[in-house]
Amino acid sequence: MHLAPDTVPLDLPPLQSTIALPYRLTPGKATGTFLAELAARRIVGTRCRRCQRVEVPAQDVCSCGHDELEFVAVSTAGTLQSYTRMPDKTLGLIRLDGCDCDLLHRLHGDHEWAVGQRLQACWSDSPQAQALDLLGFEPAGQGAVAGLAPAAFEASREPLDSMATELKLHYQHAAGPYYGRLFDEMRTSGRIMGIRCSHCQSTLLPPRELCDVCYERTGTWADVADTGVLQAFSIIHLKFIGQRRDPPYVYAEVMLDGASTKIIHMLDGVDIEAAPARLKPGMRVKAVWKAERKGSLDDISHFELIDPI
Ligand SMILES: [Zn+2]
Ligand SMILES: [Zn+2]
Repeated sequence: MHLAPDTVPLDLPPLQSTIALPYRLTPGKATGTFLAELAARRIVGTRCRRCQRVEVPAQDVCSCGHDELEFVAVSTAGTLQSYTRMPDKTLGLIRLDGCDCDLLHRLHGDHEWAVGQRLQACWSDSPQAQALDLLGFEPAGQGAVAGLAPAAFEASREPLDSMATELKLHYQHAAGPYYGRLFDEMRTSGRIMGIRCSHCQSTLLPPRELCDVCYERTGTWADVADTGVLQAFSIIHLKFIGQRRDPPYVYAEVMLDGASTKIIHMLDGVDIEAAPARLKPGMRVKAVWKAERKGSLDDISHFELIDPI
């Protein structure tokens, strides 16, 4: 039998969240050379020794499959082959003079664009060996040199060996009616609410729709105290992404009075050096609330021992 919760659960607006994954990208020799030379205002491509095809940006392997390529400096002027407008930028496929493929890059500035239009490179004043040292392409001025053939090339600097980059995933986290009511009660009245399973009588915190002890639907909201018992702890010494504070600190599993499940939170007010010997499961703890509550488990700043050691 399905039992609806006995009060109306609140559905908070979604939380904005971002997962950020910083990493270093190794571009390889060809792309590394292309990017490094942009800082010297040179566009570097490759010429295949077998088919003579000139490709830009520089490639490690020709599109014919041959891997004996030589670097060449190609013209910084070319012809617009096609373009697409986006809300924040316009991208174009540009056939640089003497090349056998198109370069995808930005069209720079607020201009009227037309297929077949002559373009010239537009450079950053503060190069950093990255793709946007070449800001993009703009309509060719009177002085633009046309038809320059790819020329022999001597590197002016080391290829870029790696570059800092970051993958960011923006998403909205929907609290849903169960977490929604928990967080809303925490925010508005500093009250912690679990939900009781009508079958096995477990009180689940955080509240949820299905009991994970007996798999029945839960139904009755239940108050849970902000005091409880230390069940286990870890002393965190390592830094990792997503940490809310710098190590070292104590991470504790706490069973709040009235709940049948544990939550994990910080335990403060304990000397880190002494903690391994002196902290024991079974010790009583209490929540320390933040002065300003926003509706999350972070509204509890941390836990501390009721009887200090
Ligand atoms: Zn080739
Ligand atoms: Zn149950």
